[in-house]
Amino acid sequence: MATQPPVKNPIVEKCTGCENIEGGHCRIWAVPAAKWRLGVCPSATHVKLEVKEREEKVRVGQQKQKKK
Ligand code: SF4
Repeated sequence: MATQPPVKNPIVEKCTGCENIEGGHCRIWAVPAAKWRLGVCPSATHVKLEVKEREEKVRVGQQKQKKK
């Protein structure tokens, strides 16, 4: 009786480029989609953990309207 390999879900689009892809599957996570659902996959080799840059508010010179 042949033993079947554990069922693994296929990688997702965001996994493209990751070095942990093996034959269309992730060798670390069984459900890659779940890792990406929470944000960036913690084991991704192709994505640097992005620290969200604080959005700089560009102050647009407000033109004061002269009161007549
Ligand atoms: S480690 Fe993460 S990014 Fe890489 S293949 Fe697995 S789920 Fe995808």
